[in-house]
Amino acid sequence: MRVLITGAAGFLGSHLSDRFLAEGHEVVGMDNLITGSPDNFAHLIGNPGFQFIRHDVSNFIYVAGQVDGVLHFASPASPVDYLELPIQTLKVGSLGTHNALGLAKAKGARFFLASTSEVYGDPQVHPQPESYWGHVNPVGPRGVYDEAKRFAEAITMACHRYHGVDTRIVRIFNTYGPRMRPGDGRVVSNFIVQALRHEPLTVYGDGSQTRSFCYVSDLVDGIYRLFLSDRTEPTNVGNPNEFTVQQLAEAVIRLTGSRSRIERHPLPTDDPRVRKPDITVARSVLGWEPAVQLEAGLQRTIEYFRRLVS
Ligand code: NAD
Ligand code: UDP
Repeated sequence: MRVLITGAAGFLGSHLSDRFLAEGHEVVGMDNLITGSPDNFAHLIGNPGFQFIRHDVSNFIYVAGQVDGVLHFASPASPVDYLELPIQTLKVGSLGTHNALGLAKAKGARFFLASTSEVYGDPQVHPQPESYWGHVNPVGPRGVYDEAKRFAEAITMACHRYHGVDTRIVRIFNTYGPRMRPGDGRVVSNFIVQALRHEPLTVYGDGSQTRSFCYVSDLVDGIYRLFLSDRTEPTNVGNPNEFTVQQLAEAVIRLTGSRSRIERHPLPTDDPRVRKPDITVARSVLGWEPAVQLEAGLQRTIEYFRRLVS
């Protein structure tokens, strides 16, 4: 297969490129580098199966030759990034998804959307099954990301139903690992970098809000299985082990052997109180479940950041 991966210079897109190449496929990576970096795919330069095109996918997408799959991962993903880039985030989720679907339709390719647990907003159902419609503030600061992804899901299902495009939708829950940008503002990268520098760990609010953290290799495996499956409805992929942000901070301090202390900061507007995937569908339909638990995943991620930070 020859697949287009948008967002290939990002954290997840680069790991996904590695996986498709390892499985013997060809990858065309596309990215405008707005939050990604060429460092993330530098190891693929010279690989005859890999090609990189610098392009903003909110504009018409042109790819010459056969394309069997279009995996749309381009979008700012960290709350800090999408609050700084609200219009670009709305555009890549709407126009970018429309363009990527158009390419898939023209090429007869399978389309795969990277959606998010943020479509559930600040959830009133816990844990979150795919059947839950969510609780999103459309006009709050996070609305630019949440509503762009909800629109992206809607247009993906419309193209599937109306044009017969072969589509898949994954709802990704908080994922971490090597190649996260040290300054991207997400909690795992922030805490590890702060701990390695012996600076205070910035816990927002009282730290009792929860997240369920998935290691990147597990996520990529779930995505690869979903891509090859015939399930067109949205599918949660994430690790259901739930932690408070305070517990995460304490684990990072312990695992890094840091002298850092914990410092309280204001909770961002509309920050979800809880988040945990119900992965019954992924377990039964994809035969998937996460294999790397938090401590092991954090250790691998800390090793990566040690090389960058020291
Ligand atoms: P990332 O910021 O590391 O990667 C996103 C990539 O998309 C970057 O390389 C960026 O330059 C590129 N990009 C953004 N807008 C673009 C545009 N208009 N044209 C071309 N390229 C563009 O983020 P990530 O964590 O790798 O997230 C990848 C995808 O997965 C996103 O769609 C995100 O919404 C989704 N997701 C990620 C998580 C997570 O925990 N990492 C959770 C839920 C959903
Ligand atoms: N958070 C925190 N300190 C930080 C960064 C984030 O306490 O330095 C909190 C944030 O308020 C949220 C959780 O950690 O409750 C996860 O934040 P992240 O930005 O990683 O992603 P989100 O799940 O909110 O999209």
